[in-house]
Order: sequence, then C-alpha cells, then structure tokens
Amino acid sequence: MIIGWIGLGNMGVPMASNLLSTGYAVRVWNRSPEKAAPLVALGAKQTESLAQLVDECDVLFTMVSDDEAVKAIYTGTDGLLSARVSGKLAIDMSTIAPETSRFLAEQSKKAGLRFLDAPVSGSVGPAKEAQLVIMVGGEKADYDVAKPMLDKLGKAAVYLGSHGAGTSAKLAINLLLGITVQGVAETLLFARSLGIDTEQMLEIISQSAVETPLIRGKAASILADDFPAAFALKHMAKDLRLAREAGVATPLAESAQATYRHALEEGLGELDLMAILRHLKGATPTSK
Ligand code: NAP
Repeated sequence: MIIGWIGLGNMGVPMASNLLSTGYAVRVWNRSPEKAAPLVALGAKQTESLAQLVDECDVLFTMVSDDEAVKAIYTGTDGLLSARVSGKLAIDMSTIAPETSRFLAEQSKKAGLRFLDAPVSGSVGPAKEAQLVIMVGGEKADYDVAKPMLDKLGKAAVYLGSHGAGTSAKLAINLLLGITVQGVAETLLFARSLGIDTEQMLEIISQSAVETPLIRGKAASILADDFPAAFALKHMAKDLRLAREAGVATPLAESAQATYRHALEEGLGELDLMAILRHLKGATPTSK
C-alpha cells in the first residue's frame, strides 16, 4: 500500500514522517514544493504534481489550513477529484467545517473515492511523538482500513459516526482549547497586575487541580515572551469562527471568538495561539 501525503505545514511534516519511519511507502506533495525537503531526506518520494501523487498512491491524506485549501485540493482545476481516484481512500485530517466534510464526502462518492474526515487534537509536539487524538467520521469499513495508519499518528483514533462527525468533535475540543488558553492568559495578567511573578504563578498552576499538559507546554514560551507557532493563532480564530457557524452561541464561546478575532486583526495570526497573552496585555484595562 502506498500513501500519498498532501500538506507539509507544521503538522503535516511530523505526521508524514511518522508514517515513513514506521515502514509505509510515502509520496508527498505540497503547494510550496521546498517544504518537502525534510521528508525527501527521510526517504519519501516527492511528486511533480497532485495528479501524479493520486495516480501512484492508494490512500490520500490531506493536512492543510482550512476549508478553502481542502476544497482547492479536492475540487480545484487539476485537483484530486479530477484524477483517477476510483477505489482509493481519502483521509482529510484538516480542521474544517463539518458541512465541508460532508460536501467533500459527496463529491468523492460521485468519483468512486471513499472519504473519511479525521481531524486531530494535539499540536506539533504530540504530532512528532505520535500522540495525537484523532476523531473520525465516515463509513465504519473505511475507518477499519485507516485504523492501522492512524495508529502510527496518534495514541487514539476514535470512530464517531457518519461524515462530519470527526470535524464536529474537533470543533468542540478546540472550543475548549481556545477558552483554556484565553483563561490562562487572563489569569497570568490578573496575577501580574497584583504583583505576582509570572514564573511563580505558573508554578502554582502546575501544582493545582487545573494543571494541564497544555499550560506546561506553553510555560517556556510565556516566560520568554516569544511565540513561534506550534498552533498558529490564525487557525484558532478560524476554528472558533467555524464553531460559531456550526451553532455555538454560549457566553465563553462568544468571548473567545471576539478575543481571537481581535488578536488576528492586530496582526498576531502567524504567532502561536498563546500570543493571545500579548494581545490581552495590550487590551486589558487591569494590565500593568
Ligand atoms: P500550516 O503550518 O499553516 O500549514 C498549512 C498547509 O496547508 C501548508 O502545507 C500549506 O501549503 C497548505 N495550504 C494552505 N492553503 C492551501 C491551498 N489553497 N492549496 C494547497 N495547499 C494549501 O498549518 P498546520 O499547523 O500544519 O495545520 C494544518 C491543519 O491542522 C489546520 O486545519 C489546523 O487547524 C489543524 N491543526 C493544527 C494543529 C497545530 O497545532 N498546528 C493542531 C491540530 C489541528 P504551503 O506550504 O504552500 O503554504
């Protein structure tokens, strides 16, 4: 079985690397071809075009930015669905709207392509360590085929039901992520405004009932006031927008959507989502 991997961003590179290092034959394609270099160095074959990748592979993974990117890859001119896809399996791991997952499943079915939505929870660290949590929607029989591959990417691959169920669960977990990161930022800024040192506050949180691997993982970045993107803030803003479009209208969700949108407008989109701290520092009246 040959795997085709489309999308070599922060997540795509370590995920495709894990499939390679566990023995799968992997072909790669990325819109910006130079990003394939680390995979080629590990033994992947880079194809000249998307059509060539589709032609040479049995399973087609996509891990790209957003709905527009996935649609461009599937339905664009010279896109995946314009190639010979009949009988193959496509697994989209991007975070997109459940409605788009269902649309892609329908379009794929017309072309004889089986489709799964399988977005992930966990950032670059868990991607490198194959510790992602994968949420899957689609036909159970296709999930069974995909499971051994998904097991090389994550610690759990959960089957949730029909097309769009994976992306629905992903929007829900990322709502919690957005709210949590904003909560941590507000807590640290509040503590600082009362004269409490950030390093000591992080230590207190790490010993408390609200300690999470997330906060532990962001501590160095917070203390250095340096936010290289593991999970870009623009993607968090996108996921909260998608959650809103999918119907969430609760108080914390509304607040988080507005906060990340404002941070995006402030130009922080390419930084890690923890840069919401920098935005709130400027925006919060209590900050000093
Ligand atoms: P990223 O680093 O920004 O990479 C985005 C990828 O999408 C790149 O390969 C990019 O190609 C490609 N792309 C964007 N627009 C495209 C288009 N119109 N046509 C073709 N390719 C296009 O993103 P990431 O962090 O890897 O995230 C990928 C997905 O996983 C997103 O949906 C994100 O929400 C989700 N996710 C991310 C994390 C995380 O921590 N990073 C965690 C969980 C889920 P170029 O190289 O040519 O720009």
